[in-house]
Amino acid sequence: MRKNSPQSFLKEVASIPGSNKISECIQCGVCSGSCATATHWEYPPRKIIAMVRADMRDDVLSSNSIWFCVSCYLCTAHCPRDIRPANIMHALESLALKEGYKPPTHSPAMYQSLVGSIKRNGRVHEFGFMFKYYLKTNPLAAIKMLPLAIDLLIHGRMPLMPKKVKGKDEIKAILAKVTAGGAQ
Ligand code: SF4
Ligand code: SF4
Repeated sequence: MRKNSPQSFLKEVASIPGSNKISECIQCGVCSGSCATATHWEYPPRKIIAMVRADMRDDVLSSNSIWFCVSCYLCTAHCPRDIRPANIMHALESLALKEGYKPPTHSPAMYQSLVGSIKRNGRVHEFGFMFKYYLKTNPLAAIKMLPLAIDLLIHGRMPLMPKKVKGKDEIKAILAKVTAGGAQ
């Protein structure tokens, strides 16, 4: 992987919107203690932050840990320094994707289908978004979900066709700005 000057990884991560306070982390570990899924992580959130600061670029971006963040934001609610570790984990996911690291979960496909649905319709169209997600990741699982989908359709809880909203183009423009800011 690419060679960096000392501390360049820290600067790179700190420059991503939402991750700018990473240098102020006091390594108290409250984020790891609060984290809903940290028991499954190779390195818990506190350690990931320490590794970014130690310039361990490849170890961080190739680790499965960043992909297990489920955005519960408990770390962010409890952090005494307002570091927002969840934002940092998502910034690292984006960086890893951009650089071609292979994620160990289907979460990027899920996010991409979700954002695609919002871009097309101005809001999430559950049926279309789930259909695309399963098509990309596991079409067989879609067949297993069919009875539930039919039930939801019958009861009007999941419309087959998307309802478009006003201001769709503005929403699309906001998403384009977010992507230009580094999100994948
Ligand atoms: S809770 Fe906040 S200050 Fe403490 S280790 Fe986690 S990110 Fe750093
Ligand atoms: S938002 Fe992510 S990193 Fe933070 S506590 Fe939840 S799962 Fe853990």
